[in-house]
Amino acid sequence: MTNKKYVYLFTEGNAKMRNLLGGKGANLAEMTNLGIPVPQGFTVSTEACIKYHDDGKSISKDIILQINDALTELEKITGKSFGISDNPLLLSVRSGARVSMPGMMDTILNLGLNDITVEKIAKLTNNIRFAYDSYRRFIQMFSDVVMGIEKRKFEDLIDRVKEEKGVKIDTELDENDLRKLVIQFKELYIKEIGNPFPEDPRQQLIEAVSAVFRSWNNPRAIVYRRLNDIPGEWGTGVNVQSMVFGNMGNTSGTGVAFTRNPATGENKIFGEYLINAQGEDVVAGIRTPQPITKLKEDSPKCYDEFINIAHKLENHYKDIQDMEFTIEQGKLYFLQTRNGKRTAQAALKIAVDMVNEGSITKEEAILKVEPRQLETLLHPAFDLDEIKRAAAIAKGLPASPGAACGKIYFTAEEAKKHHEKGEKVILVRLETSPEDIEGMIAAEGILTVRGGMTSHAAVVARGMGTCCVAGCGKISINEEKKLLKADGKSYNEGDYVSLDGSTGNVYGEAIKTTVPTISGNFEIFMKWADQIKKLQVRTNADTPSEAKEAIKFGAKGIGLCRTEHMFFEADRIPAVREMIVASTAEQRKKALDKLLPMQKKDFIGIYEAMEGNPVTIRFLDPPLHEFLPSEEEDIRALAKEMGISFEELKTTIASLHEFNPMMGHRGCRLTVSYPEIAEMQTTAIIEAAIEVNKKKGFNIVPEIMIPLVAEIKELKFVKDIVVKTANQVIEKSEEKLKYSVGTMIEIPRAALTADEIAKEAEFFSFGTNDLTQMTFGFSRDDAGKFLNDYYENKIYEFDPFEKLDQVGVGKLVKMAVELGRKTRPDIHLGICGEHGGDPSSVEFCHATGLDYVSCSPFRVPLARLASAQAQVKNPR
Ligand code: PEP
Ligand code: MG
Repeated sequence: MTNKKYVYLFTEGNAKMRNLLGGKGANLAEMTNLGIPVPQGFTVSTEACIKYHDDGKSISKDIILQINDALTELEKITGKSFGISDNPLLLSVRSGARVSMPGMMDTILNLGLNDITVEKIAKLTNNIRFAYDSYRRFIQMFSDVVMGIEKRKFEDLIDRVKEEKGVKIDTELDENDLRKLVIQFKELYIKEIGNPFPEDPRQQLIEAVSAVFRSWNNPRAIVYRRLNDIPGEWGTGVNVQSMVFGNMGNTSGTGVAFTRNPATGENKIFGEYLINAQGEDVVAGIRTPQPITKLKEDSPKCYDEFINIAHKLENHYKDIQDMEFTIEQGKLYFLQTRNGKRTAQAALKIAVDMVNEGSITKEEAILKVEPRQLETLLHPAFDLDEIKRAAAIAKGLPASPGAACGKIYFTAEEAKKHHEKGEKVILVRLETSPEDIEGMIAAEGILTVRGGMTSHAAVVARGMGTCCVAGCGKISINEEKKLLKADGKSYNEGDYVSLDGSTGNVYGEAIKTTVPTISGNFEIFMKWADQIKKLQVRTNADTPSEAKEAIKFGAKGIGLCRTEHMFFEADRIPAVREMIVASTAEQRKKALDKLLPMQKKDFIGIYEAMEGNPVTIRFLDPPLHEFLPSEEEDIRALAKEMGISFEELKTTIASLHEFNPMMGHRGCRLTVSYPEIAEMQTTAIIEAAIEVNKKKGFNIVPEIMIPLVAEIKELKFVKDIVVKTANQVIEKSEEKLKYSVGTMIEIPRAALTADEIAKEAEFFSFGTNDLTQMTFGFSRDDAGKFLNDYYENKIYEFDPFEKLDQVGVGKLVKMAVELGRKTRPDIHLGICGEHGGDPSSVEFCHATGLDYVSCSPFRVPLARLASAQAQVKNPR
């Protein structure tokens, strides 16, 4: 037997013990310490939850003993006894993790009731109906939450009794009806479980505590944790609290309230309550609650006390509080308090107001807004009433946030055509490729059946700020028949669907969307974030319009300009294909001559849009399969353009087929085979910079980035071409221009040999999309198909393409940072994989000492805030 303490009375804890007691438990203890009237109780710790799971889902004897000791203390505090007595102690049992996880587990109320105690309660309260109503509710909750018997089966029994009696609502049932229901509920319990309903309160309690522990690993909780970055190893606490009753007549009641308005942030108490009711009634919406101000009329004394305590709690926690309270026969109790969940608008207003009121510092304010919430301010959202009523027909990956509603089209051409006619369209594809770009631009939202969080659709949609649900394997499509099937229903071209890019939900109907307004608080708040942050934020932008958008969102430069993305437009793709399939240097040169002016023009646009901020341009890195023509008519047109036969071109294309394109002839490997590509790109980058510097008086120092490097000699080979070409161009122009040459670190071998690589590279940018792909050895585009099985089996807790795997991939990043700095102490370091826009990964980059993160334009505000938060939490 160990001496470890697993059970804490509320009088033994405090707010700092959140990790051990969970948020709810720590707050109940803190309120007790503050002298606030809290029905007393105890918390079974999060460590007990972990132990329960480690012990093969069983509660150890030691913990049971500690629970019994705590019960004895509670009996002393309350003057009641748990079990058979004239004054029985009844308990509520609730979960409470370190951070609140709404809806993870329901509450169990009135625990301790049985055939004897119910009679005692009836006598004590002089209210038989109340006692039996509490009893039948308890049996129902226990059976549902602890034993997993469907709620519906109990509801059916209630409906039957009401029908027999000819009444409509529950409150019309009298004590005899409720006695009858208790008997029927118990019969149902035996039928479902095979044993009688447990009459022993101690057995009830241990089973309820076990059920809360079990619920930590139910599928709902696992999904919630993944979405909210909550590690499985935290566990949940269980709060066991003595019951107070809000349903003991008209001097009793129960309610919930916030110290400020959680939707708007307005500094005014906001809440509602019900007279003569239990908490459940408020939540279930059986009766319409009154605004909290009405309490002032019903009980001025309780109202004043309530307001005083609410203010005390807000001042104490320095944050908006979400409180539950009960009034039992004129006496006010606080059942819980926690920092209130709020909309993004409210979060900003509250943070700014509290600084202005002098109650918190700017640093504290920075920690009060969730970085991810900022995204909701920048994208359309669903109308709240409409979305509540809608049911999803499928769920894919939440690839690019926002809400979209429109008519479905299965090809980019159709999407574009109908968009031009003024329709709102949703582009539905198996997966997207560069050819779809115009349809993607036209679409309100993009839905793909295949592909992961870094698939073409996901990356491009995020860049454009367009809502996207990717890898939605739950739908099937037939492009020829223009048919989408999901959840047993069929949807034709032109039918409405709605997409939620923040949850991955797909709805088979039109749902209204709204565009949120950005208030002045956003500007004020983000300025504070910028003053605090050390790790800079750049953007991944491939076009002048994306660059402009990113500047608007506060980007301080471009960390990644993917030059192959510039070739997606319909009028450019033929020239790119011509370059790829060219079988002679002459053919390739002809194609490159066509591309040079286009690239130069784009670079000029980008430099201008970035207003003199630094720009990193990456050399061509097209996975060939994304660019090769597959349709016969495209192949014919290209053959004609190149002056070769259809058959010859088909043979060339076939010879370029790769079994593993992600590990194929990409990145710098292309330049090793075809140096003229690097020559063309260098010329465009340098000429454009010279022109813009001259025209605008900027001092742009282009950063030329070489992708997919694994070996120093490979980098040197390409760099030599760059330097030779750049110097020639500069010399010819008779102007002065500085430029730098660096590399992406996106292949494990590059990270392992970063000290060597740094001899040639003036900067590193971590390409964590490829680095993750190659470290795990699974494809960016295919992992989505099986990662779910990994989550379900608790092998991985999150998608490593979304959130950096700090243990493995992060180790390579750290190693490369150290090795790179050893060779070149002033080496400039950044990250440009999708992780640059993920809050926990930003925190990692800050701690690792990178100079900047780079992410898609719409994530720039999020990254700025995450960077400031990282500095507040861990100054550097
Ligand atoms: C990466 O691999 O992280 C990266 C940014 O490059 P891409 O996504 O274009 O391969
Ligand atoms: Mg890459």
